[in-house]
Amino acid sequence: MKLDRRKFLKIGAVAGGTAACSVASPVMARDEREPDPNWYGMLNDSTRCIGCKACQVACKKENKLPTESTLGDDKAFGEAIYDSPRELSEHTYTLIKMHQDENQQATYVKEQCMHCVDPACQSACIVGALTKEADGSVKYDAGLCMGCRYCMVACPFSVPQFDWFKAIPSIKKCTLCSETRLSKGQPTACSTACPAGAITFGKREDLLKIARKRIEAEPERYLDHIYGEKEIGGTNVFYLTKPKVAFASLGLQDFDYKAVSGLTESIQHRIFQYFIPPIAVYSILGGIMAYNQRRKKEAGKLGGDDEY
Ligand code: SF4
Ligand code: SF4
Ligand code: SF4
Repeated sequence: MKLDRRKFLKIGAVAGGTAACSVASPVMARDEREPDPNWYGMLNDSTRCIGCKACQVACKKENKLPTESTLGDDKAFGEAIYDSPRELSEHTYTLIKMHQDENQQATYVKEQCMHCVDPACQSACIVGALTKEADGSVKYDAGLCMGCRYCMVACPFSVPQFDWFKAIPSIKKCTLCSETRLSKGQPTACSTACPAGAITFGKREDLLKIARKRIEAEPERYLDHIYGEKEIGGTNVFYLTKPKVAFASLGLQDFDYKAVSGLTESIQHRIFQYFIPPIAVYSILGGIMAYNQRRKKEAGKLGGDDEY
């Protein structure tokens, strides 16, 4: 029987439904985690960013990542303009995107791992390859990873990328410079490189104080909201925006304040408790990914095709 995409999805949906029904009791989310005051993070102030991409370059240098033009076959990595990637990839852990409003006013936003307080990627990983570290970073251990990519579908920000081009593929994402710099008492490479003071590195609690002070001092400059303070249970990377530029228009989705990781973790545990087959796992988690992608697309549609 020829299995086209529609049939495949249908079978997946049925298998997912069967799997969900086979679970004897409802999946309950565990309690949410609380942030640690000693965790580090970054405050990305989009009102200060001038779009120079010095942070992006510094990240590549810090992590010894190739520029797009040195990769040889551009087609394999999506169309690149000059040396600038269009999306996060296994070669690009952070990315500056330009979003324009209806008056052609530009706002620049830095994409990267949010180092969530209660990371969905961690809770989705059944072998413990992703961990929340004492410094606040979310660390990936390639030695433990079995390549299932559940973390990719679970991440609400679509951050983890899969490196297909290595003999042993692995997940790639921003490390918060944990091992290369934080462990030596140094701030992140991207925050150090920024000439506009748009990236502030520090402890999570201090960053929230700094952000609040900025909003209070210049209410005409800032929207009265710190993105990441509460969204999705809180993150260690925060964002500020202009009063008339909604976070959703910058690709930062309008999430609930509740973490999804408790639910992801409960689903994973239940799946393995009842030995639900992999197709059902992918159906359930694929649904989560499709939902995340659709929300991201909708959130960014005001910005249009505006990366450069
Ligand atoms: S942004 Fe995604 S990859 Fe980063 S910690 Fe949160 S869930 Fe994990
Ligand atoms: S914290 Fe480090 S790894 Fe993350 S975006 Fe900045 S330079 Fe790159
Ligand atoms: S270095 Fe600073 S000003 Fe330049 S793009 Fe990055 S955040 Fe924006």
